[in-house]
Amino acid sequence: MDCKEFKGLIQEFLHDELDVNMLSRFLEHIEECSDCRDELRTQYLIYEGLERLESGEPFDVDKDLAKVMQQQKNRLHTRRGVQRTAIAAEIITTAAFLIVLSVVLFYQ
Ligand SMILES: [Zn+2]
Repeated sequence: MDCKEFKGLIQEFLHDELDVNMLSRFLEHIEECSDCRDELRTQYLIYEGLERLESGEPFDVDKDLAKVMQQQKNRLHTRRGVQRTAIAAEIITTAAFLIVLSVVLFYQ
């Protein structure tokens, strides 16, 4: 991956939209390229900083970005089967939420 390709993928990385192959190459590039590390940091600061500003949560860009990087690295090591389980769990959680919501609305 070159720097141009990397920079084009930063937004997708921050939105957790890279597939495993791309993510692997993305993380490889950032290990060896300080220019792109700076660029990612800047974009993360804008992306996450604005959200935190609205919610009023404290924000430590270096600490939080390190956390994101670690999460993405863990994601790489996750097998597909586990990913499927995670998706299924998310669907169940959403369904449960909708059921609770409709019960609440029903009894109002
Ligand atoms: Zn680069």
